[in-house]
Amino acid sequence: MLSHNIPPSLCAGSCPLTNHQLPRALFSAHESRRPSCSSNPAASIQSPNSTAPSTSLTITAPDDWHLHVRDGKAMASVVPHTAQHYRRAIIMPNLTPPVTTAQAAIDYRQRILACVPPSRAPFFQPLMTCYLTDRTTPDEVEAAKEAGVVAYKLYPAGATTNSDSGVTDILKVVDTLKHMANIGMPLLMHGEVTDPSVDMFDREAVFIHTKLIPLLDQVPNLKVVMEHITTKDAAEFVASAPPNIAATVTPQHMLLNRNALFAKGLRPHNFCLPILKREKHREAVAEKATSGSPKFFLGTDSAPHPKGAKESSCGCAGMYTAPISLGLYATAFEAAGRLSNLEAFASFNGPGFYGLPPNEGKVTLVKQPLLVPDHYSFGEGVVVPMWAGEEISWQVAA
Ligand SMILES: [Zn+2]
Repeated sequence: MLSHNIPPSLCAGSCPLTNHQLPRALFSAHESRRPSCSSNPAASIQSPNSTAPSTSLTITAPDDWHLHVRDGKAMASVVPHTAQHYRRAIIMPNLTPPVTTAQAAIDYRQRILACVPPSRAPFFQPLMTCYLTDRTTPDEVEAAKEAGVVAYKLYPAGATTNSDSGVTDILKVVDTLKHMANIGMPLLMHGEVTDPSVDMFDREAVFIHTKLIPLLDQVPNLKVVMEHITTKDAAEFVASAPPNIAATVTPQHMLLNRNALFAKGLRPHNFCLPILKREKHREAVAEKATSGSPKFFLGTDSAPHPKGAKESSCGCAGMYTAPISLGLYATAFEAAGRLSNLEAFASFNGPGFYGLPPNEGKVTLVKQPLLVPDHYSFGEGVVVPMWAGEEISWQVAA
């Protein structure tokens, strides 16, 4: 394993700063969270009495519209974290080999369901996706729809973890995309160009102009989710696009800017793709995500990797947030003074886009400090979550 070869200087545990000293994009907002909360109470936010600091927020049970759970023993470690808090999750298909067929999706779904704890089995439902390749045909899309696949995922070839089988040229699959549009099959996009000559902080914005807009000119009625948006360009594009264009937003892209990658040393656990951007982009993404617009919804992109594969001379992209994600989102919405919009983002906007009903049942968040563990077990190793060793001020009620 890579973990045996980690240079000491790259180990999270050897950095001279504690995690509490890490600069956060929201540090100043973090300090002022209490007043902003009490100045913007929603109907479902309750403070039990004037002396108790705890505040609670009860929302319709949420869904995660972008999730990686891997496979095998590693999957058995992480599926319970999502199943505990969410009712449905869109499962990404970037396994090795990728999930490209209806049968592969059905088989993967069965393996996921086998990892759901019995107490959550009546409530949790994985929603399956297939991986779009240059060779995906309209007939295959049709078969996938009949099998219950809810969307196709487009990875430009080489864009991120296990994306080597991705689409090399979006125009090669236009006929398939036209068929998807006709039958209402959404396309979920990893919206970054992979041209190595394009600066990696610009790849999302360049994708919009050179790939997405030309595609929508040819297939204007295609339902598209721009996954994990990270830039002002993407936030504004989605906000002003027709209703068939929406976006998921991760907690890290609402809470962190790119300084978090280089805080007194390289921070491999803050490395994800699309990469964290500068503060003006974080502000724009958070502003749109918390605005109440139905075009933006919860998608954690929780993407676990073994600790050693992150703390490496060529560390993997992906941040693990599943167990703490609702608390992170509550933190971001409270910082924006918009806690009352969290329920729409987490529980209504996604189902609305996918044509599904909202969940029955409720989840209550409480404003009580939660110390994020240094790691969680992950197969035969461990995975380090976002904000490991730090406190977050919201958690799901026990
Ligand atoms: Zn992802």
